[in-house]
Amino acid sequence: MNLYPLALRLAGRRVLVVGGGAVATRRVPALLAAGALVEVVAPELTPALRAHVDAGRLAWSERRFTPSDLDGAWLVQVAVDDPAAAAQVSAAAEEQRIFCVRADDRAAATAWTPAVTRHGAVTVAVTDDGDRRRALAVRDFVAAALEAAPAAEPATAAGHVALVGAGPGDPELITVKGRRLLAQADVVVADRLVPGMLLGELRPEVEFVDAAKIPYGPSAAQEEINRILVERALAGRFVVRLKGGDPFVFGRGGEEVLACVKAGVPVTVVPGVTSSIAAPALAGIPVTHRGVAHEFAVVSGHVPPESPQSLVDWGALARLHGTLVILMGLKNLPRIAERLIAEGKPADTPAAVVQEGSTDAQRVIRGTLGSIAAAAAEAGIRPPAVVVIGGVVEALA
Ligand code: SAH
Repeated sequence: MNLYPLALRLAGRRVLVVGGGAVATRRVPALLAAGALVEVVAPELTPALRAHVDAGRLAWSERRFTPSDLDGAWLVQVAVDDPAAAAQVSAAAEEQRIFCVRADDRAAATAWTPAVTRHGAVTVAVTDDGDRRRALAVRDFVAAALEAAPAAEPATAAGHVALVGAGPGDPELITVKGRRLLAQADVVVADRLVPGMLLGELRPEVEFVDAAKIPYGPSAAQEEINRILVERALAGRFVVRLKGGDPFVFGRGGEEVLACVKAGVPVTVVPGVTSSIAAPALAGIPVTHRGVAHEFAVVSGHVPPESPQSLVDWGALARLHGTLVILMGLKNLPRIAERLIAEGKPADTPAAVVQEGSTDAQRVIRGTLGSIAAAAAEAGIRPPAVVVIGGVVEALA
């Protein structure tokens, strides 16, 4: 069979979906993403489809198909199990010369949906002659090849900065978007906490700036980083600023965004998996848990509690019933624990410290608010580490 491949522009065009079950649930999102005006005709909907209806993204006629449903449609997708019902839709579509995709019977369809992979601006669609698994395998093969050869993509982001969260340490915990942008970078400016494995994948011609090695004090170093980001972007290069965890969680990402905006440099933010949630999670500690904690606070322990520079209300945190997650708090942990207890948090509140969460070097120690500082010192716990305080420490234990 000789198929004629086409790419449809469905934005603003009416597409009819007949059926409201599992097949329709999988087909509808791509139609919506294409901007189609999707109307589902079905006596019942899955909860996922109903959510689209509730959000106003999808029109629903709560009944069975009638041929007049096709009026004004450019395309119809049949997603019903009953072959007689499906054949009725096909016949009506044929009559009106509307292409009809049939999930139940490909031979009876006038259009097939291919296996698809998308890479930036490129969409690859694979069809087959009836062996769907083959099309999927070829699609996966092409997807992997494109992933491995990002140079095949045009550098559309020249003169641009992307602030990318690299995740907590495991190189697999970067987002798909973050990894794609990293592979396209001309310049990479990375922090100390960025997983080394991610940097090993950079193309040899990429300029790599190790922000940890900038030879000034912390605030001058930040100025210098801002300057490098802006200067390289203004020179027309695509700069990825790679940061541990999430760029906006104690990552000074906000300052870098402001520097770019001030210089007129376009900047994109790609959030990351933050260690404040991921490190506890990988130590078996959920930051919230039904009946235990309905809130969690992420606090910097960088400034000692008694310092006039502290912006943290330790009294309020001591009264908080939920979970406390303290970052950069190892050095000040004895004073922080003391202060929380003095402000009324029970000394027997469960506590844990997670060092280098998500990496091969991950270590976890558990204790109580009263004992955790001494236990961490005793165990030789080193930064980076998060401290978790609250009943959740024992929720899964
Ligand atoms: N933006 C980062 C946090 C930067 S502040 C994020 O969202 O994760 C640096 C602090 O983060 C460290 O002092 C430590 O408290 C914490 N941290 C970062 N990575 C960590 C890891 N893998 N395990 C435990 N703590 C980590």
